[in-house]
Amino acid sequence: MRKRLDFLSLNFLRKIEIRYRLINCFILVSLLPLLISGLLAYGETSSATQEKVRVYSMQVVKQISQNLLLRMEKIEDTSEELALSDRLQNLLTDYYGSDEAASAQARSGISKVLLDSYGSFPYVNQKYILDRKRQVIDPQIFAPLANSVARLAEEAPDLNGRPWWTLYNAGHGQRSLAMLREIRFTGNNRSAGLLFVGVRPSYFFRIFEGIDLGYDSSIFIVDANDGAIVVQNRETGPGNADPALQQGIAASLAQKRDADFIAYTGADKMPYYAAIARVPHTSWLVVSATPSDKLNADTRSVRNKILGIGLLCFAVSLLLSAIIARSITQPLKRLVMVMKETESGNSRIRVEQAGSDEIAVLARKFNEMASKLHQNKEQLEDQVAVRTRELERANRKLEALSATDGLTGVANRRRFDEALATELRRAARSNKPLALLMLDVDYFKKYNDRYGHQAGDECLRIVARVLQKSSRRATDLVARYGGEEFIIVVAESDPGGAIQQAENICDAIFELKIPHADSPFGYITASIGVAALQPDDHTAPERVLRIADQALYHAKYQGRNRVVLGSDTVHTL
Ligand code: GH3
Ligand code: MG
Ligand code: MG
Repeated sequence: MRKRLDFLSLNFLRKIEIRYRLINCFILVSLLPLLISGLLAYGETSSATQEKVRVYSMQVVKQISQNLLLRMEKIEDTSEELALSDRLQNLLTDYYGSDEAASAQARSGISKVLLDSYGSFPYVNQKYILDRKRQVIDPQIFAPLANSVARLAEEAPDLNGRPWWTLYNAGHGQRSLAMLREIRFTGNNRSAGLLFVGVRPSYFFRIFEGIDLGYDSSIFIVDANDGAIVVQNRETGPGNADPALQQGIAASLAQKRDADFIAYTGADKMPYYAAIARVPHTSWLVVSATPSDKLNADTRSVRNKILGIGLLCFAVSLLLSAIIARSITQPLKRLVMVMKETESGNSRIRVEQAGSDEIAVLARKFNEMASKLHQNKEQLEDQVAVRTRELERANRKLEALSATDGLTGVANRRRFDEALATELRRAARSNKPLALLMLDVDYFKKYNDRYGHQAGDECLRIVARVLQKSSRRATDLVARYGGEEFIIVVAESDPGGAIQQAENICDAIFELKIPHADSPFGYITASIGVAALQPDDHTAPERVLRIADQALYHAKYQGRNRVVLGSDTVHTL
């Protein structure tokens, strides 16, 4: 069960957009009960109305049928009385007798007897006696009328003493009702002729004249034999019952029902209900036909109102659900838009916060998250900047370190090699002289031995500072060449200048007065070999170094704490 619910709510419903889910929900919730109850009420009311009409109209047609029968029986009784009366029996005996005069007298006697019997019945408009040959016994009768009455008598079934009711055309399209009964001689039971009584239709019509079933119902009497309408409550003239009604009547009669309620579709394509009741001993039926759309008119109007209300509710639900759907989709769209913006790098954008629904919570949480993201990003950027600066500093340091001597802080041998090559090229190019001062601390081994390596290091640092001080020009380069040996590259310096600078250095070192007990000078001193030349494109660094080195060698050889200018030829000494 739970799985099914999950499937419905998670798998199935999630495939439908939220707004459509809401719309459907609204419509179902608001309309279904209304429509169901409306349709139920419609069904129940219309079937109740139908049942009411069925019961009522059945009662009515049965009642009419009974009344009709009573009125017919009254005519029948009168006719039986007449048929059996001695007066008529005698007159008929005379009529069939051989005496011509008596027969002629009997004719007028018969007319008289008919008048006496039915004269007081205003609804009886024709009354005749027909002889055995079906000839009307009436000397004054109009010939066509006599013929039509005779024809009707021919058509009559075997009456066998029973009265027979039928419809006949009284001429000029006027229809009338007729009762025919056989007259037999009471003595020998032989046929003595027929009694014909014509009754005005209005006589029967009066029975149901005032009855109104409502719903546009019509009441009429139909002859089942030919479908002719015998009497009807509407002035529509003579006619036949609807063929569909005739079929319904035939089906009902086939089931030997005396009264029935049938439904049929009329020739006008309208559905009808009809209550029918047989008039006993005749082929006539009393019919009350009601158009069923009239029957259901009230309930239909209620149904239409329900449908109208349903449609109104539907429209209102649509509007409501559209508004609600908008209240969901708009903030969601905004949220998605802001999310996309954030994703593409804009971490300052925030979702507008309104309301207190789930989307608002979502928006608030997103904003918090975006703020944290932004904060983290800024922190990260700061950290990166700091690290970059540190890295740059470290790089610079590393670069400096790689070119600097760790102990004294002056340029190292590598840096010196590069600088010498560069300066040689520059001097060659610009045709300017270049000097190289190579310095070696005197008796330094002994200094180390007596004062210790630490003191030796300190002494080297002091000497380096003196060298840096003495070479103020930006183009001068002081470098540690190795051990206690230093080199100074002096650009654009002629030999005189170079010697002067070297001697200044020697003096400055001596003036430091760093005690050196094992030196004949008593203080730390240094010897300097100077190479001063005008380099050309072919001057190799090694050559310059060799000149300086040999000059230094000579300075040592000559007693130390001095300056010697070297030359290309010096090496031979
Ligand atoms: P000379 O006057 O002939 O130059 O004698 P010297 O003792 O200076 O000669 P030598 O070149 O043989 O000795 C150099 C000494 O310098 C050897 C070594 O102990 C010392 N030395 C070299 N590099 C350093 C250093 O970085 N620190 C210290 N404390 N001593 C060093
Ligand atoms: Mg040395
Ligand atoms: Mg030395």
